[in-house]
Amino acid sequence: MSDVILRVQDLVTSFQTESGKLTALDGVSFEVRKGRTLGVVGESGSGKSVTSLSIMGLLPKPAGRIERGVVEFHGKDLTKLSLAEMYRVRGNQVSMIFQEPMTALNPVKKVGRQLQEVFDLHFPSLNPKEAQERVVALLDKVGIPSPEQRAKEYPHQLSGGMRQRAMIAMALACEPEILIADEPTTALDVTIQAQILDLMKDLQESQGMSVIFITHDLGVIAEVCDDVIVMYGGQVLESAPVDRLFEKPHHPYTQGLLASIP
Ligand code: ADP
Ligand code: MG
Repeated sequence: MSDVILRVQDLVTSFQTESGKLTALDGVSFEVRKGRTLGVVGESGSGKSVTSLSIMGLLPKPAGRIERGVVEFHGKDLTKLSLAEMYRVRGNQVSMIFQEPMTALNPVKKVGRQLQEVFDLHFPSLNPKEAQERVVALLDKVGIPSPEQRAKEYPHQLSGGMRQRAMIAMALACEPEILIADEPTTALDVTIQAQILDLMKDLQESQGMSVIFITHDLGVIAEVCDDVIVMYGGQVLESAPVDRLFEKPHHPYTQGLLASIP
């Protein structure tokens, strides 16, 4: 289909471990379409994070390795790019947020400063004042109250939910075409989790961005996703629009997952 912007095909990723080779992804295929949110659901160890790291070119070296397969972004195979080219894609087009915000935020730099650096890098034509205004606007957009004040704080001065919002702001600052969110709400308590999910939904709708939303929680998938893949043991067991998956799961594993939702 023509509106596919990311196509992962037959991806095989392995790790060299002390006890030998571990195949973490065993022929994973899926597509992400423009403006849609693809949910990736699966229990711990099923290969969700390795999938996102493989797409981003962030597998730990030298243990992690893509052995086979294609990660095609706008028709270009990301697995064949040089480090420098991949660095550009990561900065400009494909962005990522993690479960733990401190993996993306620098603890010794003020939040506003960090955002401003992203703007400086990606929109060098902005003057410092414009960049500063964009920082405040972006913090406001992700729902951080008193954004001018918050911009002057360090990440540790924010609450967990606010830190997660700041990380989302960082990921959005470069205006990516695809945002990969790897369990972004897992570490948060339930009310804040709901707020962050609302925010993700708003942003996705207002920006026409494509999102890969990774979670072990099918309830969250129902909230935010259009399409979903179910992973188990490094494979995709089932792939469907969310409505169809919930109405009529084909795979016995998916049926079991749905039956376990209270
Ligand atoms: P999850 O679905 O919980 O995100 P992961 O993608 O992190 O699962 O892990 C998939 C498999 O790959 C697991 O068996 C995990 O132990 C293995 N794995 C992940 N990262 C590494 C690593 N750095 N070294 C060795 N094995 C790894
Ligand atoms: Mg994971």
